[in-house]
Amino acid sequence: MFSLEKIAFKPFTQKAFLATPTMHGEELDYIRLAYDTNWMSTVGENINEVERIAAEKAEVGYAVGLACCTAALHLCVKLAGERLYGKPAISHGALEGRRVFCSDMTFDATLNPVVYEGGIPVFIDTEADSWNMDPIALEKAFTLYPEVKLVVMAHLYGFPAKVDEIKRICEKHGALLIEDAAEAMGATVNGKQCGSFGDYAAISYNGNKIITGSAGGCLLTNSLEDANRARKWATQARENAAWYQHEEVGYNYRMSNVVAGVVRGQYPHLEEHIAQKKAVYQRYCEGLRDLPVTMNPIVDGTEPNYWLSALIIDEDAMCAQLRDDSRALYYPKAGKSCPTEILEVLAKYNAEGRPIWKPMHMQPMYRLHECIGREGSLRCRTNAYIAGGVPDVGADIFQRGLCLPSDNKLTEEQVDGIIALIHACFA
Ligand SMILES: *Cc1c(COP(=O)(O)O)cnc(C)c1O
Repeated sequence: MFSLEKIAFKPFTQKAFLATPTMHGEELDYIRLAYDTNWMSTVGENINEVERIAAEKAEVGYAVGLACCTAALHLCVKLAGERLYGKPAISHGALEGRRVFCSDMTFDATLNPVVYEGGIPVFIDTEADSWNMDPIALEKAFTLYPEVKLVVMAHLYGFPAKVDEIKRICEKHGALLIEDAAEAMGATVNGKQCGSFGDYAAISYNGNKIITGSAGGCLLTNSLEDANRARKWATQARENAAWYQHEEVGYNYRMSNVVAGVVRGQYPHLEEHIAQKKAVYQRYCEGLRDLPVTMNPIVDGTEPNYWLSALIIDEDAMCAQLRDDSRALYYPKAGKSCPTEILEVLAKYNAEGRPIWKPMHMQPMYRLHECIGREGSLRCRTNAYIAGGVPDVGADIFQRGLCLPSDNKLTEEQVDGIIALIHACFA
């Protein structure tokens, strides 16, 4: 039908990006406020306002402004660890030697903090209908390891997980839930904000997220005591004394008041960014309808923030594709395609896609860790695809899926051009 020659396609003059910052002007006013009042520091009005707005927006009691979401997740893990197992010795992590159930198909920042604190991530396989932690596999995991008391989950690409179900399972087993809402700010589940389900949650203002401070993040909690504990750890764990007095290890994790100025100027534009991302996603859905592909799924009762549009290719429309730890190969075939081919074509035409986040159980550093699916442990099944067996859900989505350019500033012409390029790949 389409072919690249027939449409005589030229590379985009403006690069079609995956996700970039979008500034509006108010950010500069708040940066200037920090400058003019000389609060060029990790205290100031911008931080106070960001914490107020972030808590209000996420429908939680308290937000603690931090240098990044990874720092927020670290303090979530420390709070959970202390609540579950008591105050650790200075030389030990809060989760020393304990198994923690973690999302498998996510960015590694979701679970790095579990490892910082000595925990052992046990990955929970992904489900096909949400591309997120599979509640059935989580139940299975609790039957295998009933002693586990902490679950860390993420909402991939701003498309919510079945977090209410996951929360119920955690409560049933007396486990705490940490909710990584870094990619899902403004997304909802049954009308409730992502970030309001976890016992502790984190959001990100990294440069590629739906709104940004260039960096930064917040820890979210309903407990004032926990918010204050996190704030103390984030400021080198200073005790209340005139001199520098210390009883425990601290961190330098506080948000800059300049960064907070950018975030403060961005919040009024969150809904507008979501609407733009949604329009991009819906245009892809419409334009790719006649191809053997499916866009990332939306669970009933959830409203995504549409941060990244992604697709998965039907199994019988995949051409052969092989990946090792750093390279990818494919064999072009008429009527078929694969993520590597589509990503190469997009790059050639000045459009930025990306493979699906590679599942954690497939990462070299976690090779010996367990991944639990609906039928039990999936350890050592990583290369099932190559061996010809049935891969776990995460490995399968990684093999057949990719992220599309999803910038909120993409023009309709650009999205249509990308749709035409993908058609050409299947010609
Ligand atoms: C971006 C991201 C993070 C980390 O956010 P930073 O603010 O860059 O530390 C954590 N988890 C997920 C799922 C992310 O996408």
